[in-house]
Amino acid sequence: MTTSRSIDREKLSEELAEIEKAIQTIDALSKPLRTAESALVTVREAILDRYGAVIYDKCECGALILIGDKYHHCRDGEMLCEECAPTYADVKKQVEERIAEGRGPDQEDLDMMTVFEVMAERGDSLDQKSVVVASAA
Ligand SMILES: [Zn+2]
Repeated sequence: MTTSRSIDREKLSEELAEIEKAIQTIDALSKPLRTAESALVTVREAILDRYGAVIYDKCECGALILIGDKYHHCRDGEMLCEECAPTYADVKKQVEERIAEGRGPDQEDLDMMTVFEVMAERGDSLDQKSVVVASAA
């Protein structure tokens, strides 16, 4: 095992000096970009404030999902706006396909099956969108 005493510190410092210089150069060059980004973030906040809107996420269709909007949280983590959201019937079909393909049921599938059962007991239609309301964390 190499001990710190066997390290050629002079050579190490010499080699690191070039890298440190490059890092400092890139840092100095990127400062104006960080300043511009910060200014744009401030402008974006001002626009959102003017509309009284808070962004929750963005749908794959490009639509903003705002706090208070209905959205669907996909298994893979994607968020879909209400328009793009699947119906409960779509989700039920996906769960059934996962189980048929031997990829389930996992806890999420079991939770959804409970939801389908409760909906059936209450006489709720599975044709409604599978959505929840976005709320601030
Ligand atoms: Zn969408």
